[in-house]
Amino acid sequence: MNSKFYKLPKNIEFCKLCVISNQRPSSVVEFKHTINQKKPTIQFEHGVCSACNYKKIKKNIDWNIREQMLKKLLDKHRKNNGSYDVIIPGSGGKDSGYVSHILKYKYGMNPLTVTWSPHLYTDIGKINFYNWINHGGLDNVLFTPNGSLQRYLTKEAFKNLLHPFQPFIIGQRMIGPKFAIKYNVKLIMYGETAGEYGGNQNENKIPVMNEKYYTSQSYNKLYFGGKSINQILKKTNYKLSDFNPYLPIEKKEIKNKRFEVHHMNFYKNWDPQENFYYASKNLNFLPNQERTTGTYSKYSSIDDKIDDFHYYTTYIKFGLGRATYDACQEIRAEKITREEGVRLVKLYDSEFPKRYFNDFLDYIGIDKDNFFNIINKFRSKHLWKKIKKNKYRLRKTIY
Ligand SMILES: [Zn+2]
Repeated sequence: MNSKFYKLPKNIEFCKLCVISNQRPSSVVEFKHTINQKKPTIQFEHGVCSACNYKKIKKNIDWNIREQMLKKLLDKHRKNNGSYDVIIPGSGGKDSGYVSHILKYKYGMNPLTVTWSPHLYTDIGKINFYNWINHGGLDNVLFTPNGSLQRYLTKEAFKNLLHPFQPFIIGQRMIGPKFAIKYNVKLIMYGETAGEYGGNQNENKIPVMNEKYYTSQSYNKLYFGGKSINQILKKTNYKLSDFNPYLPIEKKEIKNKRFEVHHMNFYKNWDPQENFYYASKNLNFLPNQERTTGTYSKYSSIDDKIDDFHYYTTYIKFGLGRATYDACQEIRAEKITREEGVRLVKLYDSEFPKRYFNDFLDYIGIDKDNFFNIINKFRSKHLWKKIKKNKYRLRKTIY
């Protein structure tokens, strides 16, 4: 695989203020074969990434005004008749925990939380899920998609895109609007945009999610796991109806429904660590006892055994592992310095996620050799130098 597959810049550059590089995709348009947008990777200006630039912009935002905007939006949708008035998609992690709890207890809404089940729950993930519902006092619908199809799509996404998390991301994005239609709710509140971490910066300027993320004109143009839906239907026994939970909503259907999909990071000064403190206090959210593989943190994305492979594959594809993503957030939130971040990246970024390796192989039904053949196929030459058989080194690192 070369740099063109994910449209990565050939010259690798690291941000002067955090530890991200210009190889980070700005977001993955999940229905397409690869990334299909004008600026496929995070943008740099005078050596500083767009996420760090946005941090400066955030400092000048009047969050009181934003809160007034939030209250106005909530008042517009508030029902006061016992019906649900806002849908909150989430797993019961620190972020969806925070959003759902403040909407119910601080702003007096009647939320319905909806969960696209993780591929493989971790023990701590399951405990936190029930703590969210039981301690948080929230209603929830746990949706578990067809396991056979989800395994198939996860395997294809791993094989063809080295993106095993793709089916989950699609499902998680669809579930909000779909349940809003089902329960006749006109407001959906997600956590943060990709723009918060350096994706399309226009997303930070407006609170509403672009319809393109959850609508479609025609199913013929959809891709799952790097294959068109027609290809999959021809080659397998799956039917179009099996894809129902993953399919976007038809544009004509949206026109009559008139619901709004918003992001909380437009209204609140988004800080994942503060969300963690809030969730610990109010929802009894528990961190892992040990640090997560590939990083030093204990509380981010810990509910799915596949998470480890999501971050391991970003390390292979973009040279950016889980410690990089965690350190960037904490540097920008001024919890750690850049020097500390560099040290943590150096210590943990390349760590292989051993603990759930067999679970992952069993889940997608491939063996170890096949796993590493696929992994090595996706090491772009501009990022990786082959040292000897099955041994590679990043050409340029932050350390
Ligand atoms: Zn930066």
